[in-house]
This record gives sequence, structure tokens and C-alpha cells, in this order.
Amino acid sequence: MEKIIEITHLTKHYKDLTAVNDLSLNVYKGDVFGFLGPNGAGKSTTIRMLLTLISPTKGEINIFGKNLNKNRNDILRKVGAIVEKPDFYGYLSAYKNLEILGRISGCDVSKKRIMEILELVGLDKRYKSKVKTFSHGMKQRLGLAQALLHDPELIILDEPTTGLDPQGMKEIRDLINYLSKEKNKTIFLSSHILYEVELVANRMVIINKGATKVEGLVSDLLNAANLKVTFGLTSVTEAKILLGQTQWINKVDSFTETKIVFSINHEEIPLVNKLLVENNIAVNSIVPMRSLEEYFLDITEKSST
Ligand code: ADP
Repeated sequence: MEKIIEITHLTKHYKDLTAVNDLSLNVYKGDVFGFLGPNGAGKSTTIRMLLTLISPTKGEINIFGKNLNKNRNDILRKVGAIVEKPDFYGYLSAYKNLEILGRISGCDVSKKRIMEILELVGLDKRYKSKVKTFSHGMKQRLGLAQALLHDPELIILDEPTTGLDPQGMKEIRDLINYLSKEKNKTIFLSSHILYEVELVANRMVIINKGATKVEGLVSDLLNAANLKVTFGLTSVTEAKILLGQTQWINKVDSFTETKIVFSINHEEIPLVNKLLVENNIAVNSIVPMRSLEEYFLDITEKSST
């Protein structure tokens, strides 16, 4: 498989803070690669290094099989990115903005190309409207249009759905799917929301404190076979005694006063439920959670305290 991005031992220090800590990862051709981590994990810092906006303290980045440092212009010509909130001339139309911004970066700014891109992001009908009249979601899509104008092979998106409503998020997701499936683009997408990555990515890493914690195929990582299921009970004491007389006790992950968490699969949920109910232990709630989801929630909570 052709490696599009190869990051090895990447490290970035800011004085005594280590924003990225010995990070290594590969993105292959055709991947929608989810770069997931809680706020402050080091995602933007990594992306800024991928775009040569800042330089690494240590480590190496190869893109399209070439060293980024030595082949910066060649590489970046084939990369499209939205990093920060895209900036536009509010009093000019969407069309005019793309024309000007495209010209600045030396792209094809023929009417045909601009209209084609505006259609792709669903803004063709509003091409004459002033950008200041656009919603946040529309501006975000215009940002994507700008990033796509030069038909890049690799598209890097830093939290592209931040601040969007569910409809806006879906539009970006649909666009990512389209670019990946219909246009064979490789997409590197950062996010702090597992669910969002899960819906579009085929591979992902989870980073925390600048280092990789989990890495693999989204389908493997989110395999529902390994569930954490929380049973909400009125009386955990009685349930403990009951479970102690069965093999289920070995599948108990943890207890609190009102909850028991089991490591079981979907098929086992009704069996545990039946056992409890038949022994007159009221089950108030059953909440299944995939282990990765639980893990991610855990590191997210810890990083925000
Ligand atoms: P993320 O994008 O995952 O939210 P960032 O890459 O923005 O995380 O930040 C990683 C860490 O580096 C944070 O602790 C952040 O405060 C710190 N950081 C980012 N940029 C700078 C900077 N220019 N100077 C000092 N610290 C920074």
C-alpha cells in the first residue's frame, strides 16, 4: 500500500511543554484517516507541522514518499487544507472570493472550474451572494471549496465541523465521503468527537498528550463484541450475592452503589437481565457502551480536568 503520509518520531516542544511527543503514524492512499484526540492532545500542532506552518523539534515527515522539509513546494502543491476558520472577503461574492484566493495561490480560476467546485460543495446556487450573508456551515463549505480548487491529492481538515449544527456536520461528512469514494482523494481529518470519526473514517489513531494511544481500522476498533454494559439497580448488595453464586461474577467489571458494569457481548445482556429480574432484583436501566467509546470518554474527561 502506498504511503501518503509517513510521520516518524515527531516531537514538538514549546518551552517546557511537549505538545507532540514521539508521534509516528502512516496514512495510506485512499484512506479517510481519523486523527482523534481530546482538546489539547496535539492535533493542530501536528497538522501545522504537516503544512510546514511550524517546524518540528524532532522527527521526520514524508508526504507522497518525499521528505517534507526538502520538497516543501512540490508536496504542498498537491495538498489542500482547512486549518483555522477560513477567512473571506465578506462584501464579495462566493465566486469572487474563490477567484481572488485562487489567483493568489496560482490555481486554475476559470469560470468553469470555480462553478464546478461551488457545485461540489453545494454553493453553486448562491455563487453571487456576498459571503457575509453566509451561515457558518456555508462558510465552512466555501473554505473546503478553496482548499479543493487546485484539485489536491491529499486533503487535510482540522476539526472541519467545529461549531456546525447537525445538518452542517452531515453536509461536510457527505462531502468527505464523496471526495474519498468518487474522487479517490486521501483525507486526513482531525476531530475530538469519536462518533464523527467513526462515521467517515476507515482508519484512525487516538492521541492524548501528544502520543498515540490507539491505532487501527475503525471497523476493528469499534467492534461491538467487546461491550461494557452498565446495569442500573436499586439494590446492588443483593445482586452481588446472587451473581456470586453464578459464573457472571467473573464478567463483572466494577460496582458502585447503584450500578454494576459487565464486560459482556450483546447476546449476554438479556441473560443477565433475566437472572436479575427472576430473582426479584429490579433493573432500572441497561446502558451498553463499546469499550473504545468508554476509553475515549475517560481520556477526554481526564484531559479537561
Ligand atoms: P489540539 O489541536 O489537539 O486541541 P493543540 O495541538 O492545539 O491540541 O495543542 C497541544 C498542546 O500544545 C496544548 O497544551 C496547547 O496549549 C499547546 N500549544 C499549542 N500551540 C502552542 C504555542 N504556540 N505555544 C505554546 N503552547 C502551545
